[in-house]
Amino acid sequence: MNIPTREICLPDSRGRFGDYGGTYVPETLIAALKELDEAYDAAQRDPAFQDELNALLKDFVGRPTALYEAKRLTEHARTQAKTAGHGATIWLKREDLAHTGAHKINNTMGQALLTQRMGKKRVIAETGAGQHGVATATACAHFGLDCVVYMGAEDVRRQHLNVVRMKMLGAEVVPVEGGSRTLKDATNEAMRDWMASVDDTHYILGSVVGPHPFPKIVRDFQSVIGIEAKSQCQHAFGALPDCIVACVGGGSNAAGIFAPFIENASVKLIGVEAGGRSNTLGEHAAPLTLGAPGVLHGSMSYVLQTQDGQTATVHSISAGLDYPGVGPEHAYWRDSGRATYTAVSDDEALDALVVLARTEGVLCALETAHAIAHAITLAGTMPRDQHLLINCSGRGDKDVNEADRLLTARHSH
Ligand SMILES: *Cc1c(COP(=O)(O)O)cnc(C)c1O
Repeated sequence: MNIPTREICLPDSRGRFGDYGGTYVPETLIAALKELDEAYDAAQRDPAFQDELNALLKDFVGRPTALYEAKRLTEHARTQAKTAGHGATIWLKREDLAHTGAHKINNTMGQALLTQRMGKKRVIAETGAGQHGVATATACAHFGLDCVVYMGAEDVRRQHLNVVRMKMLGAEVVPVEGGSRTLKDATNEAMRDWMASVDDTHYILGSVVGPHPFPKIVRDFQSVIGIEAKSQCQHAFGALPDCIVACVGGGSNAAGIFAPFIENASVKLIGVEAGGRSNTLGEHAAPLTLGAPGVLHGSMSYVLQTQDGQTATVHSISAGLDYPGVGPEHAYWRDSGRATYTAVSDDEALDALVVLARTEGVLCALETAHAIAHAITLAGTMPRDQHLLINCSGRGDKDVNEADRLLTARHSH
């Protein structure tokens, strides 16, 4: 199964997806990004690289992940349907079954293999909830690479279990005390490290964000999700899905399942952002739904910013969606109309997490629950002979304490 950039012609040679993307970074990083772009292009054309990656995805990550018919969730959506007799069949692409419990490992294994190929011995990463940190530490342990993960001091406190996992895997976790002590500050610190260490260090970015070529590289490594899903759908019901729904934080699980279907105009693509508590700036994390074009972390895309252009604070029930920007290719798909984007609130996501757990025995991540919530409503508007595919991006073990706390608080009101 090869990475499908031949069919996907964007970004252009300047790293642009239409008006979006690009390389808004300090001079010192330009050479490193160029080196990375060239190393990646060579790796893509090298069958030995592809073979090694495919073997790792199979034997270490556990791919292909299952395509699963969610029969009781489908029934649930039919009972809720506003239009009588409607309700598409719902299918889950089970990224929650991948090693370490989410799609993030697809990207970190690919980039770690690329790091080894570039002859670099050290990897840095930044992490918010710790999921990308764990996936990076796992890949580095596999390849014997030194691994340093920057994490906001506040996140270190909140995400203790993932800090323990990273340390157990041999990574050094550096708490960042500056600013709001969260992801944005950890990203700045990782950038600072990279500017000083770029000769022997690769920065493993965790989503389809950042300067070119990261959005392209991460999309390609995650496209394995959509490539598998396409043939699994053909096998399971003899057609392409009518609609695909995925949650959007930075946008990597969505880009991974969307990209191989871009050429299939009949397949509707829908990204679901974090609607948080309300549409007021600061209470959500929905840049494609409620934001405007701007530059953040090295590329042009939709961002959430204040009237004087400062990056806004954001909120989501799920740490993995709690980001003020989004990948530039999503901005391009949004403007062109190839994909559409909507937002789901904290409460709706929490309800959907419980519904999926009770109907299917699948405890998904709070990020994923945003996609589930929108899909249940959407399926009810589609005819029964149609098929709706959800990217089940990750499992929910990390979220059960928080979900339990919020449900208990809700019941005591
Ligand atoms: C990190 C994460 C996300 C959000 O990241 P994307 O890059 O938008 O995919 C979504 N789901 C899970 C389970 C995650 O861990």
